[in-house]
This record gives sequence, structure tokens and C-alpha cells, in this order.
Amino acid sequence: AYVRQPLIAGNWKMNMDHVQGITLVQKLAWTLKDAQHDYDRAEVAVFPPFTDIRGVQTLTLGDKLDVVYGAQDLSAQDSGAYTGEISGQFLNKLGCSYVLVGHSERREYHNETNAVVAAKLTAAYRHEVTPVLCVGEGLEVRQASEHVAYTLTQLAESLEGITAEQAATLVVAYEPVWAIGTGEVAGPADAQEMCSAIRGALTERFGEEVAQKARLLYGGSVKAANAAAIMRERDVDGVLVGGASLDAEEFANIVRFEH
Ligand code: PEP
Repeated sequence: AYVRQPLIAGNWKMNMDHVQGITLVQKLAWTLKDAQHDYDRAEVAVFPPFTDIRGVQTLTLGDKLDVVYGAQDLSAQDSGAYTGEISGQFLNKLGCSYVLVGHSERREYHNETNAVVAAKLTAAYRHEVTPVLCVGEGLEVRQASEHVAYTLTQLAESLEGITAEQAATLVVAYEPVWAIGTGEVAGPADAQEMCSAIRGALTERFGEEVAQKARLLYGGSVKAANAAAIMRERDVDGVLVGGASLDAEEFANIVRFEH
């Protein structure tokens, strides 16, 4: 039995315009319903581009779909002269349950340091949108066997200013950068090793009760074929899926993971 509600999250990245986005969510919801599968235990979330969110909101409200949604990023600021930025306030108003913070592609292409990530995390909490904090090491760090220390430092610095109460609702996604979009999957044991280390660090910082509530996901080339084995690990509470979340059938099959 799962102590925490599993979360299956689909990061669409910069794919799917607002028309394609609506079609995908509709197809996903139908596929999940049609299967009459016991997927109630898992929460299903999609992370479309900003421009799709209003459409997805209208769709989920109107049809009462069992799919929640979030954004892929937010500003650390609340409002004002920050051209091109999106505030957590706006995401809250659009009914976003979640927001990705510190995805490796944001860290790499937009120079998001741990300090920037921490400021965004605080902004998400300020606007009551649950953050999915992404952490994980690159290939060189992994090859040097320094992945645990590296990822835990990233985690500690990204959580600067976060309270225990906030941490209890936190979602952390461990995404080894070398496994994202590469077809290389960290094995279930690798996912468990890091998720266990992350839960240990959360226990040290916020206490046992909080650490047992936080949900930890694995991300990196997850597909229907490998999701179940990863999900079976004790400290893995779900998966963050990129490429495979763009195919409704494949993503629905990930949602229907077997114990
Ligand atoms: C991601 O970017 O969050 C991700 C896990 O991508 P992929 O599943 O395509 O490796």
C-alpha cells in the first residue's frame, strides 16, 4: 500500500500548441476513463506550455476530468516590470495545482542557480501553488560517483527559506540529467538510492513527520515499460515524464502502473 498518493506528472516542455494541448488532455482523460482501471489511487498532472493552460482549465472544469495541471516555470516576482515573466499569482488564478521549479533545462539554458530556484520556490508557496522541485546530477558527476552529495547540495540550497509546514506539501523530482530525453534510464535501485537520500535529508532538516509527507518522483526516460518497476521502490512516489507524456496511450499506461 502506498503511504503517499502517487503522482504521475507529464512535462510537455515546449510542445503542443493550445489546440493540440486540448486534444491531448481530452484523449488522455478518455483513455483513462475507458480503461475503467483502478487509477484513482494516483493523481495525474500535466504541465503544458503557459499558452495552453487557459484551454486546459476550461476543459477540465467543463468536463470534470480527473486530471490536474500545472506550469513549467514561474517568476520569483509577484508582479511589475518583468517583461515576459509569469507570476505565481496568475497560475493560482488559472487553477494550477502545481508548478515545476528548477527543471534541469531551466538551470542549463536560463542560468537558474540554486538561489534563483529557492526564490521561485518561495514564490510558488506564496501563491499557494505546490512546487515540484527538480534536482539531479549530470553525467560527469555520476561517473565520479558524487551524485548523492551533489544532488543533496542542490536540494539544500534550493530549499533555502522554506518552512517545515511548506515542506510537508513539497514534491521533489529526482531527474538525473544524463537520463533526460536520452533513452538512458536510471535503474529502480538508482532511483531508490537517491529518493531515500532525499527523504533522509528532508528528515534531518524538517523532521520525520514532514519528510514522510513529501512526495518524491523519479524522472528521466520513463515509459510504460519501465514505470512500474521504478514506482515499486519504497521512496519513489511517482514519476515525472517528458517525451512519453506527449502520447496519450503511453502516458495512460504509465498511470496504470502495476504494483
Ligand atoms: C523531463 O524533462 O522532465 C523528463 C523526464 O524528460 P524525458 O522523460 O523525456 O526523459
